[in-house]
Amino acid sequence: MIAARIVVVGTGYVGLTTGACLAGLGHQVTCVDVDEAKVARLAAGRVDILEPDLAGLVTRGLSTRRLRFVVGAGEAVRDADAVFLCVPTPMGSGGAADLRAVEAATAEIREVLPPGSALVTKSTVPVGTSARIARALCRPDVAVVSNPEFLREGTAVADFLGPERIVVGSDDEAAARRVAALYEDVPAPVVVMDAASAELVKYAANCFLAVKLSYVNSIAELCERVGADVFKVTEGMGYDRRIGGAYLTPGPGWGGSCLPKDTGAMLRFAESAGFDFGLLAAAAEENLRQRDRIVAKVAGAVGGTLAGSRIGVLGLAFKAGTNDLRDSPALGVASVLGAHGAEVTAYDPAIGGPLPGMSVVDDAYRAAKGADAIVVLTEWAEFRRLDWPFVAELMAGESVVDARNLLDPAAVLDAGLCWQGLGRPRPR
Ligand code: NAD
Repeated sequence: MIAARIVVVGTGYVGLTTGACLAGLGHQVTCVDVDEAKVARLAAGRVDILEPDLAGLVTRGLSTRRLRFVVGAGEAVRDADAVFLCVPTPMGSGGAADLRAVEAATAEIREVLPPGSALVTKSTVPVGTSARIARALCRPDVAVVSNPEFLREGTAVADFLGPERIVVGSDDEAAARRVAALYEDVPAPVVVMDAASAELVKYAANCFLAVKLSYVNSIAELCERVGADVFKVTEGMGYDRRIGGAYLTPGPGWGGSCLPKDTGAMLRFAESAGFDFGLLAAAAEENLRQRDRIVAKVAGAVGGTLAGSRIGVLGLAFKAGTNDLRDSPALGVASVLGAHGAEVTAYDPAIGGPLPGMSVVDDAYRAAKGADAIVVLTEWAEFRRLDWPFVAELMAGESVVDARNLLDPAAVLDAGLCWQGLGRPRPR
């Protein structure tokens, strides 16, 4: 592989992983951020986000001098072969993607990008953004390429270095192939396409997952009404290779930094293109209902009224393995419980307090102490291994709402507690 000079703009989950992994693959990488304090921490080898192997890769990159961190993209890109934009594209007004960081970064480097270089968008951006960037750049000698990122938080490094596919799109096919070649040592199918298709792949994939999760949450509710067990139903479905077993577990709703904003953005750009994406809109509405259903279950578990009750919350992160709270359904449910007057004491192995509307403690048993009900909202494996007889002793009430279908119901019941999951019959 030919080592390239790469600049990565933005050092969050995607940018830091991209920079550290590309340096690990032998490229010469400069990571840029606007956050000076973060750059200083990273330059000293300190990684704030919880991602297996990431800190090690950063340390190795720094010691081999293949990785460096700087503030300000202008100077860094002067001799770059490729510049990867990994800046945030949060939900903006009305649900559309807010592209201000992409535009700011592009404006900053517009005049300094060397001829023949490629400006590569890794941020998730609506269809048409590559064309918009090309217009803003006004540099026919610089190629604009879309290279959407599919890594998952909690397994970011493993996903980047062993992805299921690499998608590279550009209306300049030779440039797309040059960018694809940067991944030569990554064992994955590479799909090269036009820019609009590459931009749409990311949304089409994420929104499909959102629809799948809303579907399974609906199936879980139906199971409760007809006396079926969603655990068995999804096991039976998952063996069908056309469906697959992943993303078939009901929960408190889909969330995190990507699915809600990407769903909102896709709905908006579909609308702008004159397409009423009713299926996706229904999945998003179903997701809001799911949070309310969990809140109603917890209210039911404490006799119907949350006001004055004490609820122990297990899990706040949007999924296990991360300390990311952005758009976390777990945090959303916990906050609504508090807003309804419950006294919420929460524990998450990756989250320290303080958080508004609840006490955050550093131990699951402290969350259980004096609780009228416990609700499991994030699928951390350690919750399965709790000493349930001890939990029962600590609690004031006896209800356990397992909103992740994570626990072993028998272990909870044997401790003398009541267990209810999602879409599963209540054991007698
Ligand atoms: P993040 O918020 O973790 O990090 C973004 C970083 O960019 C921050 O450090 C911020 O300071 C920096 N930044 C903002 N504006 C900048 C600018 N003008 N110049 C330089 N740095 C700037 O974001 P993230 O989770 O890494 O997401 C980045 C993009 O990747 C988003 O479009 C997101 O949708 C997409 N994405 C995220 C994931 C994920 O799991 N987090 C997965 C795939 C794709």
